[in-house]
Amino acid sequence: MAETSAFRYHPTCSTPGCKQPAVFKVGAAWSDGTSRELKNYGLACEAHRESLLARARQRRDQLRLADGESVGPVALYVLEQGRRDTALSQA
Ligand SMILES: [Zn+2]
Repeated sequence: MAETSAFRYHPTCSTPGCKQPAVFKVGAAWSDGTSRELKNYGLACEAHRESLLARARQRRDQLRLADGESVGPVALYVLEQGRRDTALSQA
């Protein structure tokens, strides 16, 4: 137990002034045709998930895409330690 807890990453909510631990990642699946990743729109605690999601959707709508790029809908993903972004499951 001591060894595995030597390095622990505790992300907090992206809302200014909020110090709550983040439970969700706000993201959208992005691809340029060859590689794909989760575009990061911030981290949310339980209380701010809806407000951060709404803000991210606005930013998503303003995004201009290059040829071949595509971005999926903004969604909440459950943060899991040690998991790659692309392996996170949708909330
Ligand atoms: Zn928060």
